[in-house]
Order: sequence, then structure tokens, then C-alpha cells
Amino acid sequence: MPPAAADLLAWYDRHRRVLPWRALPGEKADPYRVWASEIMLQQTTIAAVKPYFERFMARFPTVEALAAAPSEAVMTAWAGLGYYSRARNLHACAQAVVAEHGGRFPETEEGLRRLPGIGAYTAGAVAAIAFDRPAAAVDGNVERVMTRLFAIEALMPAAKSLVRERVLSLLPPERPGDFAQALMDLGATICTPRNPACGLCPWRGPCLARAEGTQESFPRKAAKKTGTTRHGGAFVLLRADGAVLLRTRPGKGLLGGMAEVPTSEWRAGYDPDPASGDAPVTAPWRRLPVPVRHVFTHFPLELTIFVARAPASVLPPDGMRFTPVRRLREEPLPSLMLKVLEAGLEALTPEPRG
Ligand code: SF4
Repeated sequence: MPPAAADLLAWYDRHRRVLPWRALPGEKADPYRVWASEIMLQQTTIAAVKPYFERFMARFPTVEALAAAPSEAVMTAWAGLGYYSRARNLHACAQAVVAEHGGRFPETEEGLRRLPGIGAYTAGAVAAIAFDRPAAAVDGNVERVMTRLFAIEALMPAAKSLVRERVLSLLPPERPGDFAQALMDLGATICTPRNPACGLCPWRGPCLARAEGTQESFPRKAAKKTGTTRHGGAFVLLRADGAVLLRTRPGKGLLGGMAEVPTSEWRAGYDPDPASGDAPVTAPWRRLPVPVRHVFTHFPLELTIFVARAPASVLPPDGMRFTPVRRLREEPLPSLMLKVLEAGLEALTPEPRG
């Protein structure tokens, strides 16, 4: 018996997840909220996205409000979510929707894909969920369900096109938006990477991996290469008036447009040295014994932290600024820099006298 969309939809009607960006049953979805949530959910968990999404929507309630906002405000609202190119694309996309489409999102996958930052997955998800179009939205959850259901042996990511074909073959003419969300929910809550709850799955009958007991071996993946660790130095300079030296990273590339404390170059085996041009200013730099570690998609990073104090009269070097510690939350600081600042400022805080 082949898997049927009706079984999945019946399961979804009983178990649908209530999420802040989803429409309630019988209501129309808001394309702006669907699109923004899908961008935020790329490489990020629902639990992490929820509070950001609520704050983001309170700050930019419409696509017009987002388009009109200064880019620093968008980056600050995004700070901490990671993968910052998404925030830049989000802003550019909102501006394109307003300038080229009168503030209305295109309803088709093709139209959506012409917008900045919208790839195959997001176009499919927005077309299906916001406009009830028969589109395939294939994310990691859907890949897992489909490769197990049909025991797809091809390795990821090459198997993506096979997964997509399978989704399209199951797509019902009625309720394609609910079908897309149902598949995502099934992958997220039942067909989990470890210990899938097959006994509760509406497709337990036709599932080939379940019949073979090989569920956890899908999707098949090529061995992952991890990048070489890069090393660098981060310089936390605290002025006597309680302000910290910051600068903005170049607009393009890793953490583009985000704020940071000045850092040296980052490369494998690099040993930063304040005395040989790595530090932004001359100061009595102190090296902290414990570095800050962070893992980017392509490489792990280890930053050695140097801290120093400076008199209130010190001016920032060209292209840098002093920001009061109490206003740091207004800066678009990525989580790496929050870790650096936390460690650096703690080391600069005098011990209370007992
Ligand atoms: S039966 Fe198990 S492995 Fe197969 S789709 Fe359902 S949860 Fe996933």
C-alpha cells in the first residue's frame, strides 16, 4: 500500500503544532510572517527562533516597515541568530517586494525565487503555506521522512532531487499548504533523527525503512569534512567612562555588517601579538588564559582575548567607535562577540572587596 497524503493530513488535523507564524485553522496565512519565519528557521531551531520572531514582528510589523528600516536596526534585531547574510537578504528582499511588487509577495515559486535570499526551499514553503500552491518545500525534516519512507539510497545532497520528486508525487490537489506543514511537523516531532516514534506515524504501514529496521541510517550522507581550526586575537579595550572599543565588519562575507571588538587576522596556527600590529591601539594589553571558541559552518575558531583599560580621553582610531557598555545591546553583536565581550569585561571588572 503506497503512502497517501490523506493519512498524513488526518494526522496533521489532530496534531498540528501551534507556532507564532502559523495561521489558525480556517484563517489565511500572512505571507510576510510565513516568509520571515522561514528565513529565520534556516539552520536555526524553532525554540531559538520563537522569541526572535515575536520581537522582530513587534518591531517590523509589515513588509513596508521592514523595508523602510535602517540596516543597522535590522542587524541589531537579528543579532544572536547567526548566519547574518540571511538578515541582509531579508532586508533586501523586503525592499524588493515593496519597490517591485507594491508590498505584495509573488504567489508562485518562480516569482518568489527571483527575490533576494529566496532559494528553492523557501520559495516552495511560502508558495505552499502562504498561497496554498501545489509546491514542494523540502527541508531537512522532509528529507529525512522521504528518504526513510522510500528507502532512498542515494547520498545527500545529491538525493535532494529524488526527494523532491517523491514529495511532488504525493502532493494532494487539496490543502497543499497543510500538506507541506504536515510533512515538516512529522519530521520534527515523529520521524526524528534518533529513535523515530514509528508506532505513532501515519505512514508506518508503507514505510520501507521501518520494514527493514534501518530508519536511523537515512538519509544517507557522505562523510563530513570539518575545517581546520583558525586562531586569532580579540581586543577588549574599556575606557574609564565605561565605553568599549568596537568597529563594524565589512558588509560582505562572514558576519558581514555586524559589530565586533577589533580582532587580528584569523588563520590556522596564528599567534596574535599586540606588540606587532594586531592591537588597534597601544595599551597595556593583558592576555587572558582561556580563549573563546566558536564553530562556524566551515571552520572552528579560537580567539585569544586581550584586555586593557584606557583613559576617558582616548579617541577611537579611524573607522572605530566607543560604545557605552550599557548600550551594547543596541549594537548588532553576533554571539561570538557576545562571548568575547562577556569574558573580556568580566576580566576587567574589579573584584569586590570583602
Ligand atoms: S515509519 Fe518511522 S521512519 Fe518511517 S516515516 Fe514514519 S516515523 Fe519515519
